[in-house]
Amino acid sequence: MALLQLKQLHIAFKTYGGEVQAVRGVNLSLEKGETLAVVGESGCGKSVTAQSIMGLLPKGSAAIKQGEILFKGQDLTKLSAKKMRRIQGNEISMIFQDPMTSLNPSLTVGTQLTEGIRKHTSISASEANHKALEMLEVVGIANGKERLKQYPHEFSGGMRQRLMIAMALICKPDILIADEPTTALDVTIQAQILKLFKDIQRQTGVAIMLITHDLGVVAQLADRVHVMYAGKIVETSNRRELFYNPQHPYTKGLLHSVPRLDGSEAELEPIGGTPPDLFAPPAGCPFAPRCAYAMDVCRSHMPAETKITGTHAVSCWLQDPRAKQVFKELA
Ligand code: SF4
Ligand code: MG
Repeated sequence: MALLQLKQLHIAFKTYGGEVQAVRGVNLSLEKGETLAVVGESGCGKSVTAQSIMGLLPKGSAAIKQGEILFKGQDLTKLSAKKMRRIQGNEISMIFQDPMTSLNPSLTVGTQLTEGIRKHTSISASEANHKALEMLEVVGIANGKERLKQYPHEFSGGMRQRLMIAMALICKPDILIADEPTTALDVTIQAQILKLFKDIQRQTGVAIMLITHDLGVVAQLADRVHVMYAGKIVETSNRRELFYNPQHPYTKGLLHSVPRLDGSEAELEPIGGTPPDLFAPPAGCPFAPRCAYAMDVCRSHMPAETKITGTHAVSCWLQDPRAKQVFKELA
């Protein structure tokens, strides 16, 4: 059984203009000890998907319309708020892009670091302190004893992100969700944090769900990848297939818009156009207005997910085996 499985997940936001279909039938599974990246432009539904797993969708405005979030076989969408709190931060943890938004500037690092473990277990203050020191060591923060007495502003950006990782891992969760964990950091620090994720995963076996728009981060960390566009997963593959054999025109576009290591930036081609309006999602392929290969069928009919290999699947009419038949009907 997968550790986490999303089945046909639909999430909508209420706004003054109507309902926005932010997530439209997402299927995804995460296995113990692996790193799964969910990649896409901002607004594609990746962060919303992550929030729904953590039970952190904004109350009142966002709702799961359909589908299941199975964690160790139990459907989180059906849990009471009380039961959900037992899972949040304990069995499933999350870290965000900007550590300062999740750290309290007026509490010591020690207090914040031990908060989670004291909430979820009945260990003594000195035991909690001991665990906090251990965690600082795991995330590479030296002088732990002194550090625990300090406040967040006394830490650099990179150190704060290490602190967030320590906070997220202190309860030994099965899953760590990291939403753009290195976006706010400079490149050198970013590389150190990515290495830290790998080391921690090797040590603890935690499964990581990585939410990112950055294919460089995917290249360094991910075992498997989902590419999301307009609330849907349009391509699923392992890391190698994504970079060496991308199939979806959107994935290819993303790869072309990344600067190359050899510095040939002249070839950088950002994808033109914008994602569709999700108040009224298109009937056909959501990428059609931006796609150089779009055909009539793309605009009227949704492509089905088609397997390329055992680990690689794409939703695009260029690969859909129904194409011949549907073209004939449309002609
Ligand atoms: Fe382009 Fe059509 Fe494939 Fe969509 S289904 S990505 S429009 S070719
Ligand atoms: Mg986001």
